[in-house]
Amino acid sequence: MEDPMKGHCTRRDAIRLGTLFAAASALGACSSTPKTDGELGGVGDPLPGDPPSSNDAPTNEHSLARDALDRWHNRHRVSPGRTPQPRQPAGVVPRSAWAKEGPVLSLADPLTRITRITIHHEGSSPYASTSMRDALARLESVRRAHRRRGWADIGYHYAIDPAGRIYACRPTSLQGAHVKFHNEQNLGVVVLGNFEQQRPTPEALQSLARFIADQMRLYRVPVDRVYTHRELRPTLCPGRNLQQQVIAMRSGSLRRALA
Ligand SMILES: [Zn+2]
Repeated sequence: MEDPMKGHCTRRDAIRLGTLFAAASALGACSSTPKTDGELGGVGDPLPGDPPSSNDAPTNEHSLARDALDRWHNRHRVSPGRTPQPRQPAGVVPRSAWAKEGPVLSLADPLTRITRITIHHEGSSPYASTSMRDALARLESVRRAHRRRGWADIGYHYAIDPAGRIYACRPTSLQGAHVKFHNEQNLGVVVLGNFEQQRPTPEALQSLARFIADQMRLYRVPVDRVYTHRELRPTLCPGRNLQQQVIAMRSGSLRRALA
């Protein structure tokens, strides 16, 4: 299997580390690299996948204070090594099938409410395997990469593979790390692959549309609160080929999801 860690990450990373080094080592919560600076904002504008201290760990601006987080963990009886996984949808492959370790709860914020949904591509090397075993390994690789950034866990809440299988990722009791500055109340769903360079499979698209509609109904999220990553932040994610498909879904089946 190709190493999914080799994908690009962010423009800032590329500037900081040099393009070659970034290409070899960095992976963001999704790893699309802007084509040019001029196309996607000014130098220094923070991008998703930037250092963990400002994305995932508690901060003054976006997070509960540490003592409040501790109280939340106590209230929900979350202890180290035990993973909360509320309201697991039917037919979803459990996190326990692939994750070698649980989230680091001391680095996580609670996700007490979901009012929006954001769709991503994984964005590293193109990925077309329909093998579940390959997908399990790929998810664990992404989890490890996100942990190396100091994040609590894999950044997304759910993932979809080219066969259309859906995998539970970060527990939905925990805030994700998938759109910098926009993680609050935001459910993150990633489709494995790089849709700048390949097209999503019909199976993945069908599964994505059905799953997003289910989540819209579950959390009462209207269609105009279903985003792609690039609609919230300057990034290529979820790639032009998936972006087109999400636009079509929102004017089609998703528009009727809450009807
Ligand atoms: Zn993304």
